[in-house]
Amino acid sequence: MARILISDDSAFMRMVLRRILTEHGHEIVAEAATGKEAVKFYKQFQPDLVTMDVTMPEMSGIEAVKLIHEENCLARIIMVTAVGQKEIVKVALMEGASDFVVKPFEEEQLVRIIEKALERERVKSDD
Ligand SMILES: [Mg+2]
Repeated sequence: MARILISDDSAFMRMVLRRILTEHGHEIVAEAATGKEAVKFYKQFQPDLVTMDVTMPEMSGIEAVKLIHEENCLARIIMVTAVGQKEIVKVALMEGASDFVVKPFEEEQLVRIIEKALERERVKSDD
């Protein structure tokens, strides 16, 4: 079970992510609708993992990744991107994102990517 922050400006996508993740035993600590909120809630709730949309008002997901990574270089951030955002994904990974999933994704695919990121964190803290 992980404490997760969902970041997406689409209320529908937040609802989908919340449903899938809670059904798999995770706790949603907060939902951010802008990049700015994502950074604020990250600092406030210190989640184990963040799901990050790219295109959001006020501040993009890329900028938010950069600021969250500055706050905690071990932060686990999964980009949730649209088809055709390959270059943006590359930038996000350089800025500190852990992995990405492309919309529309299969439920199992999302869960697997999140479990993988959490596993990596566990391995790291056990060293
Ligand atoms: Mg968006």
